[in-house]
Amino acid sequence: MDMRIDIKSLDFEELNNLVLELGEKSFRAKQIYEWLHVKLVRSFEEMSNLSKALRDKLEEKCYLTALKPVEILTSKVDGTKKYLFELQDGNIIESVLMRYHHGNSVCISTQVGCRMGCKFCASTLDGLERNLLPSEMLDEIYTIQRDIGERVSNIVLMGSGEPLDNYDNVMKFLKLISDDYGLNISQRNITLSTCGLVPKIYELADSQVQITLAISLHASNDETRKELMPVAKAYKIEQILKACKYYFDKTGRRLTFEYSLVSGINDTIEGATNLGELLKGINCHVNLIPVNPIKERDFKQSEKEAIEKFKNKLEKYGINVTIRREMGRDINGACGQLRKSYNETKKTKEGES
Ligand code: SAH
Repeated sequence: MDMRIDIKSLDFEELNNLVLELGEKSFRAKQIYEWLHVKLVRSFEEMSNLSKALRDKLEEKCYLTALKPVEILTSKVDGTKKYLFELQDGNIIESVLMRYHHGNSVCISTQVGCRMGCKFCASTLDGLERNLLPSEMLDEIYTIQRDIGERVSNIVLMGSGEPLDNYDNVMKFLKLISDDYGLNISQRNITLSTCGLVPKIYELADSQVQITLAISLHASNDETRKELMPVAKAYKIEQILKACKYYFDKTGRRLTFEYSLVSGINDTIEGATNLGELLKGINCHVNLIPVNPIKERDFKQSEKEAIEKFKNKLEKYGINVTIRREMGRDINGACGQLRKSYNETKKTKEGES
């Protein structure tokens, strides 16, 4: 294991301390920070305004994370790009670039795998491998920004992993990515999606971030929710909504509720009525996601008509509802499916050789 310091995960103050320890002046820290977080270099050699001696010292004390793209799929329909990246330890993660009129949005992974066990999700089928470092989450954005040569303006933490299960690293990532002296992506353009780890929602609310919180609700009663999401055994919907109200009071940010519609399980009109009753009065937005079936389970997408009825019912409660537009339909794969099929093919190939 590399015992050196992960330099890209240091905030400016930490980097400054390191530079002073190395017997250098503070302005060097500014230069290094800019190389790392604005110019997005991937080696110390590229830091051309530093002396060779300092670059060598940095190399000896620190290491630089980098992602190796192993596959990039581009949609012919809407330009969506799915990236499969290899981390330095050989693990694979996926990130997605979506191109909207209002800018480029990147969906990042926060863990390798996931331990939450949601039944419809491919990311969690093999459990959690490890947490991603702040630097590795930054690399997802940095590598994509370099690849397209355009600015990334929005981020969603909705790829593989449960962000609040990797809380400290995610908080550090948020600090660095929204830093004035880094890429300076506004926290208001960042959305964090969680399956609902209640104590962490309170912690997030108290941390004074300005990000949008999205809750994966997927059911309007605890029994149905338990069938889809094991985390529902730990926290009741009522507790989650209380935490959401606290988040709104603290941040003033409107909440998003995600609801993946699974035919015959959570897409009934009674379900929509319950949901309307639960959410009325909360400043929120509901995002309906027709479930993306994975081959390991036999969940089916709701019929178009059921989705429309569900939406209309919610709207009667004055709730703002959208149906998620499927991006990159021709290169589709549900959360974590791309990585899973890549790993499976690799295993088969290794078995053959
Ligand atoms: N762990 C976080 C973020 C992960 S996924 C969370 O639970 O919110 C982002 C969203 O996609 C979540 O709402 C998740 O429940 C949903 N999702 C995962 N797999 C899906 C699938 N096959 N079809 C539809 N939605 C899915």
